[in-house]
Amino acid sequence: MSWQAILQQLAAGQQQLDRQTQEECARVRNNERVGIFCRSGCSNCCSLTVNCSFAEVLPLAGLINSEQRASLDKKIEKLREISQQASDLKDFLRRFREQLGGCPLLTADGSCGLYSQRPYSCRALLSTRNSNWCAVDFASLHPLEKQAFLSSLDPELVAFPTHYLAAPQEIALELEALLLLAMREQFGVALAGNFLYQIWLELEHRLSEIIPQGFAATRNYLEQNQLDLPFLLQLQGEAKEA
Ligand code: SF4
Repeated sequence: MSWQAILQQLAAGQQQLDRQTQEECARVRNNERVGIFCRSGCSNCCSLTVNCSFAEVLPLAGLINSEQRASLDKKIEKLREISQQASDLKDFLRRFREQLGGCPLLTADGSCGLYSQRPYSCRALLSTRNSNWCAVDFASLHPLEKQAFLSSLDPELVAFPTHYLAAPQEIALELEALLLLAMREQFGVALAGNFLYQIWLELEHRLSEIIPQGFAATRNYLEQNQLDLPFLLQLQGEAKEA
């Protein structure tokens, strides 16, 4: 059993998502009321939590350089702390954004350091508002400001109540689900979760060599090494009867 077929599926999915996202952006740009405000060097959305399938981190783990690795290691220490302190998912997401300090793959000029291999969910995030809105903590807004913002959104275009285009995110979710299904079919186990944590798991623990051993082996490895931390991983599969 190997990852080869799954990685081929990932590459085809990246091409499909990029093509359909470009088409959707072109369609939206013809709409006078809405614009797409994403531009190179704007990294305001790169402090959000990114979730993805484990397959998506494999090419990234192979490309990461020593500087990115050092930055990742520091962030993982903080991420462990955040995951253990957070009282619920909402609290985890807030702490992640406030305390982690952005993606370790960001370059000094605010670009993605591994742009061609970024996960589906990064590829699918397109802002229909000035990018300053991507950095706003909505919990801190006055209710009237929040209301004005929400009523300015076009619910037919965006993933309401956010200002990000809905269509690319829907395609990304479908493609991610197909990768998880392929993992289930190939190995009997599907893993998804926090993007940074999964890269680190691959670099530090070579999880891609454990997953092909099946669900029970993967779950046992994560548990024995105390790696299955709150809010960071979603493991699916069934242990086979002995
Ligand atoms: S992988 Fe790239 S696009 Fe995604 S959060 Fe990190 S720097 Fe931003």
